[in-house]
Amino acid sequence: MPDAPSAEAGLPTATAILKPKRARPFFGRHPWVLDSAIERLNGTADVGAVVDLATHDGHFVGRGLWNPASRIRVRLYAFDAATRLDDEFFRGRLAAAVALRGHLGLDDRAAAARVVNSEGDDLSGLIVDRYGEYLAVQVTAAALVPRLDAIAAGLDELVRPRGILLRGAERGLAKLEGLHLPDRVIRGVAPGGPVFVAEHGLRFGVDLAEGQKTGWYLDQRDNRLAAARHARGRRVLDAFCYSGGFAVACATAGGARSVLAVDSSAKATALAKANAELNGAANVAVETADAFEKLDALAAAGERFGMVVLDPPKFARSRASVDDALRAYHRVNRVAVGLLEPGGILVTCSCSGSVSRDDFLEMLAGVAQRSRRSIQVLECRGAGADHPVNVSCLEGEYLKCVIARVA
Ligand code: SAH
Repeated sequence: MPDAPSAEAGLPTATAILKPKRARPFFGRHPWVLDSAIERLNGTADVGAVVDLATHDGHFVGRGLWNPASRIRVRLYAFDAATRLDDEFFRGRLAAAVALRGHLGLDDRAAAARVVNSEGDDLSGLIVDRYGEYLAVQVTAAALVPRLDAIAAGLDELVRPRGILLRGAERGLAKLEGLHLPDRVIRGVAPGGPVFVAEHGLRFGVDLAEGQKTGWYLDQRDNRLAAARHARGRRVLDAFCYSGGFAVACATAGGARSVLAVDSSAKATALAKANAELNGAANVAVETADAFEKLDALAAAGERFGMVVLDPPKFARSRASVDDALRAYHRVNRVAVGLLEPGGILVTCSCSGSVSRDDFLEMLAGVAQRSRRSIQVLECRGAGADHPVNVSCLEGEYLKCVIARVA
């Protein structure tokens, strides 16, 4: 792969000049400079080039990487003019991210954890997940593509995995960035089959080649345990179960009486069945079905559960669709509440970044009102600590997981 201009030296080939009065977010260390904030580019820059960002009247603001094809025209990685964005710089950021997981106790070689969380680790556009002895890398910034080799070398040296796999970004994101990266092994070897990882004393098989996200919803790890704590003796419904994370945790460690797990993807339910079996959870029934229809059918049949887990896919793709998303959350949560016996537990999640925590809780208040049930919020959770959020880029805080008791 060709190197971006100056990638080695890490010094700018051009300066992006901001429109007047548009510098505040970037003095505030926000890493995304949208095309609409930029007045012009002084000099020339190709995708991946190092550029400086300057105010209208020429004051240095930050240093980043250029992508002429993306609405995020510049991603900022440094806020002082002395820093070179060279291979050593990126290696340093990777080392800090790896060290943080060590500090968090999330470096167990038998388990899974997110090693690099994009802006949360000051590495905008880079996701690295570790599954046992393997790493899965997702690049969501085209400007990082010319640096992929250096990033893989850095990860190899810092983590010493058996293999590093490149997984394509979510289709929408890839399109926005003009990314065309086929899945491939970029270092070492690919696993021969599923990779088995430990989570809270359980074992799960993860499909690194074809699984959703990079194979597993790592962000829900601690929420699966938190939910399981409420499951004892209950009949549990895990709608949108993917590979059975919540279902298996509730059925085994949680001591649920029985669990019904539903997902519309046959690949997901095959993984969920295998994971239930792997953990000796004979009380988990897995069904391939549309969860919205299944919830309606269960309600129509007068079925009742002691606990319902709702972890649907993203409803809001953009700010414009927040109202539609909130209506969809209201509808599915209302049906779920209707399925709960008095004193039942609702575990309801949203991974739509544009739906705020407050919006989500207000939606639940609407559900309480319409269903004439009291909803007590017991825990209001987010992603685990291996998904740090950069306080200057709150767009990174997308996951909500509310555990509530419904009277
Ligand atoms: N709770 C899971 C992650 C769920 S992700 C975990 O902890 O691992 C959301 C899931 O919803 C995906 O597995 C996706 O296949 C599923 N899904 C999307 N649309 C669906 C629908 N209409 N009905 C059922 N499942 C659906």
